Amino acid sequence: MFDLLIQDVLWQGQRVDVAITGDIFAAIEPAGTLAHCSAKRRIEGRHFLLRPPFYNTHTHHAMTLLRGAGEDLPLMAWLNERIWPREARLTADAVAAGTRLAIVESLHTGCVAFNDMYFHQPAILAAAQEMGVRACVGLMFMDQVSDHIENEATLALREGLPKTLALSLAPHALYTTTPEQLQEIAHLSDTLGLPIHVHAAETQTECHIAQTRFNAPSPIAYLDRCGVLKPGTILAHCCHLSEEDLATMAARGVVVAHCPQSNQKLGSGVFPWVKAREAGIPVTIGTDGAASNNSLSMIAEVKAAALSAKLGAPSPESVTLSEVDAAATRLAAQALGFTNAGEIAPGRDADCLLVDLRLPAFAAGNNPDADFIYAADSACVDTVICAGRIVMEGKVVPGEAEILAKARAAATILREE
Ligand SMILES: [Zn+2]
Repeated sequence: MFDLLIQDVLWQGQRVDVAITGDIFAAIEPAGTLAHCSAKRRIEGRHFLLRPPFYNTHTHHAMTLLRGAGEDLPLMAWLNERIWPREARLTADAVAAGTRLAIVESLHTGCVAFNDMYFHQPAILAAAQEMGVRACVGLMFMDQVSDHIENEATLALREGLPKTLALSLAPHALYTTTPEQLQEIAHLSDTLGLPIHVHAAETQTECHIAQTRFNAPSPIAYLDRCGVLKPGTILAHCCHLSEEDLATMAARGVVVAHCPQSNQKLGSGVFPWVKAREAGIPVTIGTDGAASNNSLSMIAEVKAAALSAKLGAPSPESVTLSEVDAAATRLAAQALGFTNAGEIAPGRDADCLLVDLRLPAFAAGNNPDADFIYAADSACVDTVICAGRIVMEGKVVPGEAEILAKARAAATILREE
């Protein structure tokens, strides 16, 4: 008996039946083929498009509580004047409330995983586990900040984590860490077997700091000198890359978390998508935190990634929709260590979305996958399944009203002077 049977759903231009057993896709067959099979739960898929969900590779999820707190400021002023003073008042309960809010928003946009760099990490892991989504949560390293960082407690949880949760080592950035710290993190990555997640080459200011404080030609060259560019290291932003940087990144096997909307909104710079692909560097997509984006919509982020890549490319054929879509699905799942997720096929992890085709954006029906990215918005995501569990259904996340109420209360406390 199957645990879940989705009947007569549109997938890659065909109508199919999809069976899930436990956390795995058990079968995908032409529509009607599995109708006679017994299943604990059936979903009528006639009005839905089936597709892989998104995996967000750069987040600070609890910053949903700081959304709108500092508009139209450059990165350093934004951090120093608006964000860090509020973060000084953070508690584990606030992080839990903000993370749950971000997970609600992520599910509505069809995203089942996040790669987080934030404080009070056990609260982040607990929120993700409770709501049934995947997360990679970083042990944080920031020079002169120790409050709110719970690395030892987080590491102690490692053995008991379900396979939907993972840990990383997350030095914040080169301007908030010392060379000694970065070298120690590179060493820890080897001894603990944990990947690294770091902001890199985000702004011109960061490039200037690499040159003046560390006597390095670029942020990438400096991070490489410290040993943190390893196979699988996730570099967030990467707006300022030389030809040498691209060659170094390809040689080390790092992955980019491209954050197009944050980069545009903060005026940080432009990630060179086509050059990175030509260098052989895997590219994934992240929203960044809600205080700098300010949306967590992965649909909007993927569209922004496609548009900004096409804008700088020689022709619209240089960057295809399927390439950009893969960056937010299959490649992103792999980058976060969920190597059996990100694709819909028998034997793969049962992560998927049911998209509501009754909405205006899908009426013509010429290319539903393109309609999803280019024409629709998060309102089209009806049902989200993560590791075989239905985590949103009928556009409702369980406990949503209470999650929003707690987030409002937590944001009010952080706002008080
Ligand atoms: Zn960030």
